[in-house]
Amino acid sequence: MGSCCSVTTCSKATVCPECRAEGKPVGLKTLQHLVIEEKRGAIGDGNYYFCATPDCPVVYYNAEGSVTFHKEDLIVKVGLKESNNPPILVCYCFNITEGDIREEIRKTGRSTASQRIRSEIKARSCACEINNPSGRCCLGDVEKVEKQLMPFKI
Ligand SMILES: [Zn+2]
Repeated sequence: MGSCCSVTTCSKATVCPECRAEGKPVGLKTLQHLVIEEKRGAIGDGNYYFCATPDCPVVYYNAEGSVTFHKEDLIVKVGLKESNNPPILVCYCFNITEGDIREEIRKTGRSTASQRIRSEIKARSCACEINNPSGRCCLGDVEKVEKQLMPFKI
């Protein structure tokens, strides 16, 4: 897309080697927990990034672009890269899917998923860092889904 890398100053490229979108930094701990055993040895100790492009097969890549892990190299399905293939997990710690939230709203008119997660976070039983492929807390994603499905919630 851009032409920033036409010059040699761009040594710290953090774009996905496949789709060229900018990734988000992700901790090694996340990779070590989610990459399948056969490939775990390739992780090393570089800086890794998470590619959030839905149709890109790359999940993790290192800063040099020399190591990549594709979605089939992970022990979990990456919800955001499986959009045609429900159920989509929005919370990896407590196995909450988009369908669960939809179902609860259909039955009760509201969703308690984010509340439940908040209390789990308080109880310190949330482990997104090792369970969620993005290495981030899923609460933001859950709230986004709730908002989408329940547009009139205050
Ligand atoms: Zn990508």
